[in-house]
Amino acid sequence: MSLPATQSACPCGSETDYDLCCGRYHGGTEKAPTAEALMRSRYAAYVMGAIDYLLQTTHPDKRAKDLKVAYQTTYETIQWVGLEIVSTFQGTPSDKTGKVEFKATYLQGGQTSVHHEHSRFKRHAGAWHYLDGVITDSSIG
Ligand SMILES: [Zn+2]
Repeated sequence: MSLPATQSACPCGSETDYDLCCGRYHGGTEKAPTAEALMRSRYAAYVMGAIDYLLQTTHPDKRAKDLKVAYQTTYETIQWVGLEIVSTFQGTPSDKTGKVEFKATYLQGGQTSVHHEHSRFKRHAGAWHYLDGVITDSSIG
């Protein structure tokens, strides 16, 4: 796995340089301070194929044996084209749990679709982790 060159906008849509945005979390130098920041960094990891980061930021209780393969397959078959954070609930630096509702637009087999999910996040060993999510049926067109 190698990450793209620096000095480019972060894939999470923040309009901040990758190095100053999710790159800090992917590189392991900093932990995402909020559930939303973790959500954004996981989306960017999906875009870039940072599979190990996706595994590391999944809550240990939820790391299924085939999770790495599942992430790899998603990366190889889906092209993510946009992220919209719809709403957040808790998930601040002083919370232990948090929720993020988001819409992620993707291309698969020439079709544009939207992955609309309510995700739950939980602090583990001081860092935010993705716990699970409920997918809401929604698509474009
Ligand atoms: Zn970012």
